[in-house]
Amino acid sequence: KKKEFRQAEVNIGMVGHVDHGKTTLTKALTGIWTDTHSEELRRGITIKIGFADAEIRKCPKCGRYSTSPVCPYCGAKTEFERRVSFIDAPGHEALMTTMLAGASLMDGAVLVIAANEGVMPQTREHLMALQIVGNRNIVIALNKIELVNKEKVMERYREIKEFVRGTVAENAPIIPISALHGANVDVLLQAVEEFIPTPKHDLKKNPKMLILRSFDVNKPGTKPEKLVGGVIGGSIIQGKLKVGDEIEIKPGVPYEEHGRIKYEPITTEIVSLQAGGRFVDEAYPGGLVGVGTKLDPYLTKGDLMAGNVVGKPGKLPPVWNDLRLEVHLLERVVGTEEELKVEPIKRREMLLLNVGTARTMGLVTGLGKDEVELKLQIPVCAEVGDRVAISRQVGSRWRLIGYGLIKE
Ligand code: GDP
Ligand code: MG
Repeated sequence: KKKEFRQAEVNIGMVGHVDHGKTTLTKALTGIWTDTHSEELRRGITIKIGFADAEIRKCPKCGRYSTSPVCPYCGAKTEFERRVSFIDAPGHEALMTTMLAGASLMDGAVLVIAANEGVMPQTREHLMALQIVGNRNIVIALNKIELVNKEKVMERYREIKEFVRGTVAENAPIIPISALHGANVDVLLQAVEEFIPTPKHDLKKNPKMLILRSFDVNKPGTKPEKLVGGVIGGSIIQGKLKVGDEIEIKPGVPYEEHGRIKYEPITTEIVSLQAGGRFVDEAYPGGLVGVGTKLDPYLTKGDLMAGNVVGKPGKLPPVWNDLRLEVHLLERVVGTEEELKVEPIKRREMLLLNVGTARTMGLVTGLGKDEVELKLQIPVCAEVGDRVAISRQVGSRWRLIGYGLIKE
């Protein structure tokens, strides 16, 4: 018998150009409006990564998919398929590194393209980000179809087919929808079921959680004896976590020594766990997990711990102050109006690196054939072979120029 509450088992990214309807589609599928920070509400754009969980359900009578216990199409009781977590990513070009942090947690993605605008710079940039993290489980949602006529829809379809040729989205289905009117979202969900499988999670592996956010949840003025420890939020990418577990967090906490900033790993205990917004005893890969700790909340306020990795003491990957990367550069800079050629990496150049949910600056200290050595501003905790997204400042913005694989 299926349990009443299950944690989401797969993370599905909502990616694509700003205003193409990612947040609206997330709302149509989950009932949750992910733009909740005051600045997001004011500016009308997604700034922080938002998670929204939903149950994908199938109607045994009419066979259509929905996220509702009662079939919206025929009124029969629907059957549970799986619980998924949608990760709503910002589509604004200035927020590309936030999108990349989210991309490292996505098991698959829905690439949203508005039919009235078609393929835009961040459509390209986000597809490139999926390509760079090696994500092949993609469904394309051709949104806002009620704004255009049938000929235009067919034209967009051909344009998108051309756009994805030779990429990880080459075989992605293209589903015409209207997120605003909820039209055809059943077909989109069916495509999600078919094209974005739940990854096989080995829960016996050493746990690894990538931190996206961290908080001090105490209200100002709380009496010292009532203060609760720091809370960290992110997604488990391997293994599982339990209340009572000892955990280590790496690279950890910055401190100053002889005028230089260094980082020290910290250990603490899990005092509470939340998954999909509910308190649980154990948490698994999939969706946003909140971990209550005994850490001084001063260390976790305002996302200070974002980019760190959580695991069992002594079992985490190494921390790198310098990286040696096998480099794969793109031919052209994506995400800009005119796509400039990517110039080779230069000595003493500053590059922006995304490793998991961490972002850091790297000064190029050495160059070899398809290889680069960097001195990092903030160290990262990562495995040999992990992928690093590389961005360079072009004009006033950081642009994705390629990726690297961490070498021994
Ligand atoms: P995001 O930046 O990709 O998250 O886009 P939003 O979901 O915030 O949507 C941007 C704007 O497009 C909002 O005004 C939405 O109401 C509108 N929108 C989203 N989906 C549709 C749709 O299917 N049809 C129409 N006409 N407008 C839509
Ligand atoms: Mg949005």
